[in-house]
Amino acid sequence: MKERRHVLITGASRGIGAETARLFASRGYAVTVLYRKNSYLADRVVSEIRGMGQEAVSFRADMRDYSAVKSVTAQAMLEFGAVDVLVSNAGISNFSVFQDVTPEAFQEMIDTHIMGLFNITHAVLPGMISRKTGSIVTVSSVWGITGASCEVAYSTAKAGVIGFSKALAKEVGPSGVRVNCVAPGLIDTDMNAKLSVKEIQSICDETPLGRIGCASEVAEAIYFLASDRSEFITGQVISPNGGLLI
Ligand code: NAD
Repeated sequence: MKERRHVLITGASRGIGAETARLFASRGYAVTVLYRKNSYLADRVVSEIRGMGQEAVSFRADMRDYSAVKSVTAQAMLEFGAVDVLVSNAGISNFSVFQDVTPEAFQEMIDTHIMGLFNITHAVLPGMISRKTGSIVTVSSVWGITGASCEVAYSTAKAGVIGFSKALAKEVGPSGVRVNCVAPGLIDTDMNAKLSVKEIQSICDETPLGRIGCASEVAEAIYFLASDRSEFITGQVISPNGGLLI
């Protein structure tokens, strides 16, 4: 019997991805941390996990680059064997009225969220199908469900992540692979560093639980969907959002 499982997490050097990496490690997983730019932060997550007595390694790749993503996935498998869980978390945001969104900015949003998800899934899925087991958790957003003013590009991309997850869940369920999606509300990470106190307060005011979320709360939802505790759940979207969207 295989003793420890292997999770591969994209965008795991900070924010929700880093918190998810720590949580999976605390529950016995070997963790592959994929990151785009900041090797210092990625190394820090890896050392924290090793300090917990678990295995971790980091690789640098831009999720938009198909061959780079294939290559780092192959290296991760050499390190820790088959990928049991994929968490596709990497993402960017862009607040801007629609008329000010350039074709390049719109394309970057689609490339990061949709092509990035395509690339990492293409790299990981064949192994899961051949072993007839595996769990994929994608990260969308509450705005991918309901749409956000001044975030048309982001909402479009995140709605695509949900469509991707549902369709793939139907296709690969018979092969023993589950695909689910977490669609968080506003979470306290660097992604929202540019929001003013007033903007954050107005979202808190609209939220029945009266606050924004933290990365560890999203990590718990991701872990649940990845784990055997949800083995009859596939193609679903869970939205940790404090009741912002019900
Ligand atoms: P974050 O900015 O701290 O983390 C995003 C990570 O993705 C970064 O490490 C970044 O380097 C990485 N990334 C971006 N583009 C990449 C690329 N092309 N290739 C590889 N890595 C790339 O933000 P976060 O809040 O931790 O966001 C994590 C995920 O959660 C994102 O998909 C985001 O859209 C989603 N989300 C966040 C919130 C929120 O309020 N923070 C809400 C809903 C959904």
